[in-house]
Amino acid sequence: MSHPDWSKLAEQKIAAVRAAQVEWAALPIQTRIEKLNAAKLAILARGEELAQLISDETRKPLAEAYSAEVLAIGDIFGYWLRKGPDLLKPRKGDVPSLEMPGKKAWIERVPRGVVVCISPWNFPVQLPMRTVAPTLLAGNGLILKPSEVTPKSGAWLVARIREVIGPVIDVMEGDGAAGAALIEAMPDAVVFTGSTRTGRKVGVMCAERGIPCEQELGGKDCAVVLADADLDRTATGVAWGIVSNAGQNCSGIERVAVAAQIAPQFIPLLVKKLQETAKDVPELVTPMQRRIVIEQIEEAIARGAQVLTGGLPIGDAPIPPTLLTKVPRDAMAWKDESFGPIAVLEVHTSEEELITAANDTRYGLGNSVWGHNTDHATDVARRVVSGMVWINNHSFSAALADLPWVGTGDSGTGMTNSPDVLHLLTRPRLYVVDSNKDLEPWWYPYGPKLLDLMRVLVSRQQTGGLGATLRTLSALKARMKEIKS
Ligand code: NAD
Repeated sequence: MSHPDWSKLAEQKIAAVRAAQVEWAALPIQTRIEKLNAAKLAILARGEELAQLISDETRKPLAEAYSAEVLAIGDIFGYWLRKGPDLLKPRKGDVPSLEMPGKKAWIERVPRGVVVCISPWNFPVQLPMRTVAPTLLAGNGLILKPSEVTPKSGAWLVARIREVIGPVIDVMEGDGAAGAALIEAMPDAVVFTGSTRTGRKVGVMCAERGIPCEQELGGKDCAVVLADADLDRTATGVAWGIVSNAGQNCSGIERVAVAAQIAPQFIPLLVKKLQETAKDVPELVTPMQRRIVIEQIEEAIARGAQVLTGGLPIGDAPIPPTLLTKVPRDAMAWKDESFGPIAVLEVHTSEEELITAANDTRYGLGNSVWGHNTDHATDVARRVVSGMVWINNHSFSAALADLPWVGTGDSGTGMTNSPDVLHLLTRPRLYVVDSNKDLEPWWYPYGPKLLDLMRVLVSRQQTGGLGATLRTLSALKARMKEIKS
């Protein structure tokens, strides 16, 4: 489809969802909850079909399609349907009663309107779900633009929800041009998850149009292994962090910084664990990603890196779980996102150096610190710069709807999950009701008593106390007399 056709389609879709959204937002929240719960059950009843579809599209093992995607649907819907009413409750506003009598204020969180969710291919259901559930619950309409690499899973998800709740949700399949057309068609908010490069473009497009937008971008997470780490659990957990979803995980472990005291035992164990995973690690989803990872391995080896396990694939075989060491800090494998089952490892003699290694990246999505003494590991974690830091684990919290998924630096300022997403998906609307029958002291006509009052108020801000309150009352009285005279 050519670009002008995308524009027309995007405009039609946004207009249709916008029309349906008005009715959807007018429903009592309890009715929206019932309908979304019915959609959740309809999806879960066909969970096996969805898991198979995801596995076919992404090559991930069926167990991973279940654990990271199908289960996430129930968990994420469950959280928002349970907590949403409280989180969306109007908030009472604080208005000082002495100088502003008779006023009542409250703030409602109202839906933005139509939210566009642009998604990547690595978690084609879990990632959109993190936006779909709170967006719809809050009374918005939503259009999902799934990745062109894995369009079917996202389209399946939207179709099941649409069957239950109607045309307030829609999907627009297509490549980047389709995503851009959706932004040009002026939705009310954009949630983007994808690469840093595309995220920057999307951010500019949205800024130029005044569309609120959040961007969840790439990562280069580091596992910091302290001298007192539990060897077996840490090696197993770090290996999982490197290879799960074949490393195509924005918060996959791509760097490992190990304390020298533990390195002689830890490194062979990590190598063994990685080798054991090889049979469960599928080929990468796109040929381009395979090329990127191979280029990173080739460059690192050419520049003197040592291959601890794995390395370049033989022929067309999948890229094996790979651990490299002695990789120069300016090599691609250290500084760029790999998005494959490979990691670079460094050994350091001090905790200071371990922390400096973890922070030597322009990304800042997640990091982990592994150590037996969790208080100490937490102290180390505080000095590591990233949106998320796990102690003795990595990345598993992605589908826990109460916990923010958030980065910093080149990982973007965006967020999915947690009550904080409501800042993007809703806007605060203020109501103030005034039952004061008097004129206001700050209204015209101005006069010397107004200035007196202002001075008394400023003095009261400094001192507080009963005396200041009495002086305020007296200045107010004088001012009201002045207004009425
Ligand atoms: P990508 O940036 O190539 O594409 C993401 C989406 O953006 C796709 O749907 C694509 O069609 C669309 N798109 C492309 N150009 C566009 C444009 N000009 N305007 C609007 N939309 C456009 O990313 P990808 O290769 O699909 O996914 C991998 C990347 O996603 C990795 O960098 C990974 O780290 C990142 N990611 C981040 C998170 C996170 O939560 N931070 C989660 C998963 C993946």
